[in-house]
Amino acid sequence: MSGYRYDLPFSIMDVAGILNLRIRRRGTRSVYTDCPLCGDTRGKMNLNLEKNQFRCNYCQAGGGAIGLYASVYGVSNSDAYREICEILYGNTSPQECKMIAAKERQIALPESAELASVFDRSQTYEIMLSQLTLTRTHLEKLKQRGLSEEMIQRAGYKSTPAFGFDSLADTLLSKGCVVEGIPGFYQKNNGKWSLHFTSRCSGILIPFRNIAGLIQAFQIRLDKPFIDEKGHETKYIWFSSVDERMGVSSGSPAHFVGNPCDETVFATEGALKADVAHFLSGRTFAATAGAGNVEPFRELFSLLKANGTQNIYETHDMDKYKNVHVRAGALKLHNLIAEMGLQTKIMNWDKNYKGIDDFLLSKHRNEG
Ligand SMILES: [Zn+2]
Repeated sequence: MSGYRYDLPFSIMDVAGILNLRIRRRGTRSVYTDCPLCGDTRGKMNLNLEKNQFRCNYCQAGGGAIGLYASVYGVSNSDAYREICEILYGNTSPQECKMIAAKERQIALPESAELASVFDRSQTYEIMLSQLTLTRTHLEKLKQRGLSEEMIQRAGYKSTPAFGFDSLADTLLSKGCVVEGIPGFYQKNNGKWSLHFTSRCSGILIPFRNIAGLIQAFQIRLDKPFIDEKGHETKYIWFSSVDERMGVSSGSPAHFVGNPCDETVFATEGALKADVAHFLSGRTFAATAGAGNVEPFRELFSLLKANGTQNIYETHDMDKYKNVHVRAGALKLHNLIAEMGLQTKIMNWDKNYKGIDDFLLSKHRNEG
């Protein structure tokens, strides 16, 4: 219960209330509001409820609860503190303010769980997958990417369930599965365990496996991608329960598919892309969730190096020659590979094919 060491008699939300900040989005651990400092009206200001801090993702202003009030009114921190207490508690003594606040905060934040071991996660997830199905539409989508039904089964893709989350959790518990600390699982207020699937986030579950083939986490390939504030399309989200009671974050692990002792490994972004490329080429692939996200490769590459891997090919999408984010990600990857004492190689192909999977699929079809 981290949040309670905080000893101010008010929270960042109390200050948000005084400042009458407009709340745009609400999670259990953070809230997004308009920024009173730069005048943003798109909900760029993040209020962290655990740390009682604010940060505007637009003007970069940040600080604590007192600092927020002080910045808005242009007063000193000590004046801000006194004024906030006066507004919230009237003429009550500072000591009494703290006691009232401590009482109120007993019910503040939901407790979170600690991430379970990869063995427990994988076991629960494998049994969860055995209880789920793959819809015909999803099967066809995967086949269009070049996968056979046998490959699809081996990779373990399933459709997210549309209902019956509580009974799925019950079934897993009755089979002896660990549910506490498994990303995506959380406890409801009545004490029952459930899974954090929603109709808005329906799609295909894509397992992220480690070098031993164990499932560490899932991404969901969304049926209906989101458009974020920057206008970017979000096709994948993590299966996570981070904002829920006794829930936990999936983190952002790397995915591995192929031979753990291969001399040459190909690195790309996206687990599904890596799977498709592996199944079509027979080569070994590693992937992270995004081109800019190379840090999760560090642990995987060190295991591979110990196993005898010498070369890592960077096979990011060909838009690395146009897209600055992909190019920056490719560069970070080159640096990491070099830093780890491995040979880094770039693989290019016909620019008409965006991803390594698209290119291999065209080759596969021409040969077949
Ligand atoms: Zn701002």
